[in-house]
Amino acid sequence: MENTMKRQKIECWQCKRIFTLLIDTAGEPTLTKACPYCHAPLKLAFGGEPQNIITVMRGAAKSQPQEITVYQLPEILESSDPSLPQ
Ligand SMILES: [Zn+2]
Repeated sequence: MENTMKRQKIECWQCKRIFTLLIDTAGEPTLTKACPYCHAPLKLAFGGEPQNIITVMRGAAKSQPQEITVYQLPEILESSDPSLPQ
């Protein structure tokens, strides 16, 4: 299966430091994580349009093409305070 895990640079909304988290771009478009520096809770919203990609497992006996949805992420993903209303 296509590897949808991505090392994503994230900017903390509170301390403004940039760090890297491993996130699943085929997962939920909104994730809640925590800053490794100041431990602030972070809400990460995947921007943009989701993209459907077709993956086929190579060499598998019963390989079925599989459609998965991934999100295109910017180089540095901004975070926001999850306790704030939208
Ligand atoms: Zn922080």
